[in-house]
Amino acid sequence: MFLSRPIILLIGWVYIRIKYPCYDLQPASEDVEDLWRDENYAAPLVNMNPERQQLYETCQRLGVGITVMKAFGGGDLLDASMSPAGKALTANQCLHYALTRPAVSTVLAGAHTAEQLKISLAYEDASEEEKDYAAALASFPNISWKGHCMYCSHCAPCPQAIDVASVTKYLNLAKAQGTVPETVREHYALMPHHAGECIQCGACETRCPFEVSIMENMKAAKELFSY
Ligand code: SF4
Ligand code: SF4
Repeated sequence: MFLSRPIILLIGWVYIRIKYPCYDLQPASEDVEDLWRDENYAAPLVNMNPERQQLYETCQRLGVGITVMKAFGGGDLLDASMSPAGKALTANQCLHYALTRPAVSTVLAGAHTAEQLKISLAYEDASEEEKDYAAALASFPNISWKGHCMYCSHCAPCPQAIDVASVTKYLNLAKAQGTVPETVREHYALMPHHAGECIQCGACETRCPFEVSIMENMKAAKELFSY
């Protein structure tokens, strides 16, 4: 069987987790069971854990691919009664969230049954609408992603054809580093349209489910990259 994306299917129990929706907001722990403790969800969850975010950004900057395990949170995220968000995601949404984080190249999708395996494989043929996680995450009642770019591209289309998600990703990578790494500068240069072309029309901000200050980000990117 040929897979166009590197989804590796792992049968059985996987005990190491790297990242997936909801748990991206939790601090890293040596004990994976900590993630499921009720007290960890007593207070509202706000955005991605900064250390975790820094890890992804550092990996992307250095060209290190991240492999994701437990993209479904042991199945919790697919079940509203178990998910810390109180709402269920689909397998396509979980896989797409993981694969669109910085530096992530592979998801190990666990399965206990052939049916679960088929559900993961269906990602290969899923439409963009089926993979879209933005509206679902934005509606999670127990979690605030406000102001945090998910690189979901819901803000498109831009009348200047700026790829806002990519500009924001390169901006965040440079901010995390405190300077503009050469690889980030090269990737930014390769984009057909740059932040400097932003006319501050605000159309993108009306479409962003996470209330990101996109116009401010475009200004910051223009200043940082000089165009
Ligand atoms: S700015 Fe908003 S809509 Fe655009 S990629 Fe980021 S989170 Fe998605
Ligand atoms: S504010 Fe800038 S980035 Fe957003 S849609 Fe308008 S031109 Fe594009």
